[in-house]
Amino acid sequence: MGLKEKVYLPEIARGLGITAKHLLRNLRHPSRMRTVEYPDVQKKLPPAMKLEHRLMQRPDGTIRCTACMCCATACPADCITIVAADHPDPAIEKYAASYTIDALKCIYCGFCVEACPCDAIRMDTQKLYRVDYSREAFVHDTDYLLNNHPEGMDPVSRYLEVVHGSAPAETGSTAGIPHWQGGDRPIPRAKQAPSQP
Ligand code: SF4
Ligand code: SF4
Repeated sequence: MGLKEKVYLPEIARGLGITAKHLLRNLRHPSRMRTVEYPDVQKKLPPAMKLEHRLMQRPDGTIRCTACMCCATACPADCITIVAADHPDPAIEKYAASYTIDALKCIYCGFCVEACPCDAIRMDTQKLYRVDYSREAFVHDTDYLLNNHPEGMDPVSRYLEVVHGSAPAETGSTAGIPHWQGGDRPIPRAKQAPSQP
């Protein structure tokens, strides 16, 4: 270590100079700043990023999940709990009377989405930042998951949504869906609705 380093003062002055240079540059060109004023400003997340889950619905508003348990089996964190029930429609064997995800255990690997044969669960909500006061608040139940729609859905997901015909899901609420009765009761299937896997 030379005398300059041993004295420290020149190095401190050099460090302050770099800080002042960046400060002045940011003041002159605020649009070029690489930081954002979080949480007032949040950076847009990549559309393919796997974030909070949502459950998909059929065109008649009923839950698309057939309670096959593939997602719960594939889940490495063991955070999915499904209660299966007989579906009133004889064409569909079962449905998820209750579907919960413990978000505190979830590692956001996306295996559940990959394992689902019915495209009944997605992680395209773009919702990541959430705080709460109790652990129970992070257990997402059926109603939460069915209403957890993305605010700004990316075009690919929107296209798939249209192809799969889940128009009621875009209303942002199950309130207007005549056949949705909640997570713990059998859900009648509208006769006129096309069959979905
Ligand atoms: S993202 Fe991974 S850890 Fe989370 S529920 Fe799905 S399979 Fe389980
Ligand atoms: S979400 Fe998909 S994989 Fe999971 S139980 Fe329902 S249908 Fe099966």
